[in-house]
Amino acid sequence: MLAESCIFCKIIRGEIPSQKVFENDEVLAFLDINPLSTGHTVVIPKRHAERLADLDEDWNAALGRVIGRLSKLVVSVVAAEGHNVLQNDGAVAGQVVPHVHYHIVPRWASDGLGYRWNAKSANADELTQLAQRIRAAL
Ligand code: AMP
Ligand code: ZN
Repeated sequence: MLAESCIFCKIIRGEIPSQKVFENDEVLAFLDINPLSTGHTVVIPKRHAERLADLDEDWNAALGRVIGRLSKLVVSVVAAEGHNVLQNDGAVAGQVVPHVHYHIVPRWASDGLGYRWNAKSANADELTQLAQRIRAAL
């Protein structure tokens, strides 16, 4: 269920300290030790899984139930103007800790974090074909 050397499993076991903000049977949330903004919260399943695809639907549902509720609460407590919910999946996507986690990052217009994804406009035919491929794979 938990991994010996995983830092988030150690937090779950209470072997390293954390500022917990929410806990139930399946999910634990605590404040990020290197926050992007005030109230930056990390939400994790209380079992070891490296990637989102390693969790079954019940675990994903358990996380989903908490994230919406907790986002609203954190945003309200720190009086944020908005928030980002992020899940970095894989090293290429910025995942550093190999235990599935969601970030709740409160946002303010003045926070200086910005939003810097360089989107390109899509080719309509490519979108049609891609949507077909994804539907066919379901
Ligand atoms: P990621 O880059 O998506 O893997 O994010 C990992 C996050 O975990 C980073 O934002 C870290 O600051 C945070 N983190 C790492 N160790 C701890 C810890 N001991 N307590 C709280 N947050 C941590
Ligand atoms: Zn773990």
